Amino acid sequence: MSRIWIKNPRASFDGTHANQANGGVVVEGQRIAEVLAAGQQPSQTVDSVFDASGMVLTPGLINTHHHFYQTLTRAYRDALNKPLFAWLTSLYPVWANLTNEMVEVSTELALSELMLSGCTTASDHHYVFSNSLDEAIDRQAMVAAKLGMRVVLTRGSMSLGESTGGLPPDKVVQTEAAILDDSLRLVQRYHDPADYAMCQVALAPCSPFSVTPELMRETASLAKQHKVLLHTHLAETHDETQFCIDQLGLRPVDYMESVDWLSDRTWFAHGIHFNSEEIARLGRAGCGVSHCPTSNMTLASGICPVAELEHAGVNVGLGVDGSASNDCSNLIQEVRMSLLIQRLGQAQQSSEAPLTAHTDSLRWATQGGAALLHRPELGRLSVGAAADLALFSLDEPRFSGSDDALAALILGGAHRAEAVMINGHWRVSHGALIDVDMAQLQARHQQLAMSLWQVNT
Ligand SMILES: [Zn+2]
Repeated sequence: MSRIWIKNPRASFDGTHANQANGGVVVEGQRIAEVLAAGQQPSQTVDSVFDASGMVLTPGLINTHHHFYQTLTRAYRDALNKPLFAWLTSLYPVWANLTNEMVEVSTELALSELMLSGCTTASDHHYVFSNSLDEAIDRQAMVAAKLGMRVVLTRGSMSLGESTGGLPPDKVVQTEAAILDDSLRLVQRYHDPADYAMCQVALAPCSPFSVTPELMRETASLAKQHKVLLHTHLAETHDETQFCIDQLGLRPVDYMESVDWLSDRTWFAHGIHFNSEEIARLGRAGCGVSHCPTSNMTLASGICPVAELEHAGVNVGLGVDGSASNDCSNLIQEVRMSLLIQRLGQAQQSSEAPLTAHTDSLRWATQGGAALLHRPELGRLSVGAAADLALFSLDEPRFSGSDDALAALILGGAHRAEAVMINGHWRVSHGALIDVDMAQLQARHQQLAMSLWQVNT
């Protein structure tokens, strides 16, 4: 098995601490075989050396919430400058016309964009299924395998249409039997439970306002039976809380408890509007929260109480969220956004707690995301961890004059990885994808986006 020494980065982050791996790491096959302190040499000979001097080395970043298909409706005119519910009702009719080809190409575009930003594991939440779209997850699995990206694909669902009190149009909701059958099919076909798996499947009814309590309960039971994770949006906006109280007579967390969702198998996207008793309950249950700062700012949803959640024992990861609310899929930028929004949140409180550190944000994007996805072999530079690495060059005007290189990466606004390795294979080199023709992909993606909007004009 060949041994590669990623040698002497200027700075490093091992998933928890700064600069513990400044001698670099030795990769053997799909795993990290050695982690070297500054000045330390590999214990055995290596076959090749990657000179990382001048670069920052981190574990590959982990994205825990996204909707790849939304890259086709970025900056969509009718949805601009609106809060969540109005934004969604502008977009649902457009998304209703998605095709299998559109999901395939948008997945390739989103995964490519993520890799270029240092991401090596991505979760996606696809919940739009219509008559013209029956192979969404199958196409996503195929594209991820082609790109060599590690993924956790979630089978989303909507079963509560407008005519029965839900928010989405009836055209994009499915029967519960069809949803559960397809969920089982996808778990059996694509979920690899092994360590270092490249593809896993989780089950993800969309949100309290688009799914019935029966489907939530049935999905939880299916997930338990097949030992897969559960994911959904929760406590994103005040509108959602009000919907839950009006329609279900419960606040969002009480509702989740009533449908058997408060478990360590569950991670929620956003998790903003919780009270302190609810936060304690989420912590006791071992739930995870995907913090999506850019989306929360774009839709004016609020600030996720990350410090309180972590203090209570909730695992926190980062998510770029769907590209129609971000509008980009750049995970290293999201690290900076999470730092800034958390600091802003602290400014609004009178707490004496220490300020959120840049290493906290990086930890959410690495070890935090791994914990939330139950993947302890990811998100860290340690012996035996997966060889998923991101290297960022500091050779740009924005970093010139910086002292602490790791802090400069975040504070200076890094947006592009120089090199990315996934499962022991280089996927990004010199800031470009090795085996994707980006110009051709962008042209096809833009053309499909325009044809999607045209159906609605
Ligand atoms: Zn979302």
